[in-house]
Amino acid sequence: MKRTDLIPVLLLLPVLGFVAVQVVETRTITAPAQAGFVAPAVRSHAKRVARNEVENTGTVVDGNAVAANATDAAAARDVGDIRRRIVLGETGTYIGEILSERDSALARWPDRMVQPVRVWVGSSPAIPGWDPTYPESVRNAFDQWTSLGIPVRFTFVRDSTDADVHVSWIDHFDSPISGKTIWARDGKWWIVTGNITLALHHNEGELLDAKAVHAIALHEVGHLLGLDHTADTANIMTARVRVRDLSEADRATMKLLYSLPPGSVK
Ligand SMILES: [Zn+2]
Repeated sequence: MKRTDLIPVLLLLPVLGFVAVQVVETRTITAPAQAGFVAPAVRSHAKRVARNEVENTGTVVDGNAVAANATDAAAARDVGDIRRRIVLGETGTYIGEILSERDSALARWPDRMVQPVRVWVGSSPAIPGWDPTYPESVRNAFDQWTSLGIPVRFTFVRDSTDADVHVSWIDHFDSPISGKTIWARDGKWWIVTGNITLALHHNEGELLDAKAVHAIALHEVGHLLGLDHTADTANIMTARVRVRDLSEADRATMKLLYSLPPGSVK
């Protein structure tokens, strides 16, 4: 447990003009960041997400449709009103840190209560250290976030080809990271697809235990839903994960994010 401290790398890559991809890597702090190793992986994953965007046009249309159909579409971009709502709701949250990390823009999934986000969680019994309970542990991480009452539901699908979100496993990353989340958004900052990769071992070979894997899954699903990091290490979304469960601030920040329209509040 002593080596589950994590450091993030955030990169924002424009793709296809109207879609942006965000890569979040969860790093151990036992080795320095090696930017030279990160770039190839980022490009590789960015390409994969971009291809999903092209193939999975239904998801993109769905995201746009929600924004276009919103009866308060005009109010949704009333930046002054959104700022007031942030000020009213930000006590006990780290929404301010997210806004400063993301250049004053919020990203989140559109309302997916009727059409749940389809999540495929892979199994990798061939990887040494694999625990057959891990897929359920990951599903539990998704459910912990949605149990907060946000307007997003997840459904877990067997076929990866029609999934909106893929969760895959890796023995270890070649760079000193333990988890990675990539999501793509449309031009209105609605998140439309994502990929999570979780490692079973630290970069240097030490096995991550089941509690650490679950905590990293909670952290990565937080990213997938639109959260960024907070400095307070009592939260699951701190850059250096030290806790194993969602904190009150984690819960409050997620609820506030999903009470607001996405996009810039500059
Ligand atoms: Zn992170």
